[in-house]
Amino acid sequence: MIDRTTLLALAALAIATTVARAQPAPCPGNADALGTARVLDVDAATTPRVGRKQFPQTLPLAPNEVVLTFDDGPWPVTTERILDTLRKECVRATFFLIGRNALAHPALAQRELAEGHTVAYHSFSHPMLDRMPIAAAQADIDRGIAAVETALHRQTERTPATPFFRFPYFASTPPLLDWLERRRMVVFGADLWASDWNPMSPDQELGLILARLEATRGGIVLFHDTKTQTAAMLPPFLRALKARGFSIVHVVGAGAQAQTQ
Ligand SMILES: [Zn+2]
Repeated sequence: MIDRTTLLALAALAIATTVARAQPAPCPGNADALGTARVLDVDAATTPRVGRKQFPQTLPLAPNEVVLTFDDGPWPVTTERILDTLRKECVRATFFLIGRNALAHPALAQRELAEGHTVAYHSFSHPMLDRMPIAAAQADIDRGIAAVETALHRQTERTPATPFFRFPYFASTPPLLDWLERRRMVVFGADLWASDWNPMSPDQELGLILARLEATRGGIVLFHDTKTQTAAMLPPFLRALKARGFSIVHVVGAGAQAQTQ
């Protein structure tokens, strides 16, 4: 007869074993791919705000787990190069789209979704939302959600398919954070970034982000898929993650079906 304590211990062991054994699925045509080690459901009920640069808490990641996020697209050429690189390595990322860019380049937004990435929201026009009347800020956020849903599905839908939002410039306010929490939207900050808004060579950016990742031992990484230097840096960056023993976690909205290609 197994008692309750033993059962709990066995359950904990099973979970620990599952995490330890999380191995990426095979990647067609690339036996040495970095891959995506696991999918993490993220729910505003338990983690309404994540990212240590902005908030007290972040995602429940194990050491050396990395969540890749790309802001401000979709953008011709650079977003395409980044999607090509991610596909070659079978890596799933999250894109925070500017609504007006999604309307201008709907095929790219659709490609992100079709290739299994998470598509989320980053306002319509990328304003400083903390410097606007709250009604105007809420309107820009909602317009951004509707624009992305229009680009993806050709229907104006104010309900976000994936309940993830990132503030432009991380410029939030307590009332806006409360409003998003009531709507069960997870607000994404970041744990680290490549500072890719500053001009630098791809090699410089690679060195910078790897040093920061070694210091934080993983976390939510912010890039911009509008940046040529980031698109150029990504192939060696993913190779370096593999060589250094980092693994990729794909975040999805709680309850969402992780899309398979
Ligand atoms: Zn942005």
